[in-house]
Amino acid sequence: MKELIILGVTGSIGRQVLETIKGKDFRVRSISCGKRVELLDDVIRDYNIEYLSVSDDSLDTVNKVNKLKEKYPNLIVGYNQEGLIKAVTDYPGDVVNAITGIAGLIPTVKAIESKKNVMLANKETLVVAGNIIFEMAKNNNVRIVPIDSEHNALYRLMNNVKEKEISKLIITASGGAFREKTREELFDVTIDDALAHPNWSMGAKITVDCATMVNKGLEVIEAHHLFNFDYDRIETVIHPESIIHSMVEYNDNSVGALMYNPSMLIPIQYAIYENNVECAIDSTSVKKISFKDLKQITFREMDEVRFPMIKLAYEVGKAGGLLPTVFNASNEAAVSLFLNKKIKFLQIEEIIKKACYEYRDINKVKPNYTIEDIINLDKEVKANILL
Ligand code: NAD
Ligand code: MG
Repeated sequence: MKELIILGVTGSIGRQVLETIKGKDFRVRSISCGKRVELLDDVIRDYNIEYLSVSDDSLDTVNKVNKLKEKYPNLIVGYNQEGLIKAVTDYPGDVVNAITGIAGLIPTVKAIESKKNVMLANKETLVVAGNIIFEMAKNNNVRIVPIDSEHNALYRLMNNVKEKEISKLIITASGGAFREKTREELFDVTIDDALAHPNWSMGAKITVDCATMVNKGLEVIEAHHLFNFDYDRIETVIHPESIIHSMVEYNDNSVGALMYNPSMLIPIQYAIYENNVECAIDSTSVKKISFKDLKQITFREMDEVRFPMIKLAYEVGKAGGLLPTVFNASNEAAVSLFLNKKIKFLQIEEIIKKACYEYRDINKVKPNYTIEDIINLDKEVKANILL
């Protein structure tokens, strides 16, 4: 039996993790959620959950928790960051981190310090702290396995291949909700427009990130840290069908691609079944590709003028240090403003560009940094934007 701790269990990835392990030989004793406690009744019963961490301690949420505790009197509940840390440190098992945003950073750190392997959906962890995280993982002898579909595909394609045999990583991008629109047409797009992703159903933040192409920018930085590849060996290409989930170009100019109908169940199962595709979930969960129906798959060059955030992501990634934290924090703040109808879609880009410009000398000012510096900078950047 395998023990798992699932963070962000109410989210899009978290729910699919539960779907993947349902009825299988897994034990989950500890979970975390943001504030949607009302979704957890069945989960607490079905998995006999012992500990729940809730990131929100507003009266409304505490009220919902108390109702849940009437039904499950043995359930222990923790709140805020402290409660989240307990979820990771006080219970056994590998950690699936499906929290969205930088809130996923500290639990990743705590999991590694507790010598637990991490199945990481939370790409923001690696964007802001990739160097520190991999140094820690090495020192504590734990594995970081990516759940993000592109990276999971690369991870599989690179299995048993020597790094020097690979010339390039090619990350595919669906193009997001606005891939057919010109920049002029983006002026008045709404939240609903941005959330209407053509291929994937995901949490709101990442769906907006796909529409701005920030998501692909974050993924380039994520790939740099995961696979230790220079940025000039990481390419992106638009592939509207999302059938190929990334590609590896080998030194002999052959290319390996991993293909499946878009579903996060595949990377989730690969990550949590100890990376062993042999014991993957039943093949009925994800539809086989029918090449007869599919007929063709297409590609378009990534357009840095149409999608300026991809260019900026390469710049901040190459600069390294604390600049990716600025990129990530300003994006999180801007997306939150957009989702709260405070700004227009194109202002997301403006806010990120402005923040990265304002902090352009941050690495000179602070060449060495800790996790605490990252957390503090994240808060500072966000506070400036929300003012
Ligand atoms: P989501 O918004 O659906 O779920 C996020 C989860 O995190 C929820 O359980 C929420 O309660 C919890 N959460 C939010 N803020 C929190 C906080 N401050 N503290 C603690 N918990 C908090 O998001 P998602 O789409 O499932 O994405 C989760 C992560 O996985 C993101 O980093 C995303 O980039 C990555 N990812 C998602 C997909 C996908 O298909 N959804 C694909 C690839 C990568
Ligand atoms: Mg992805």
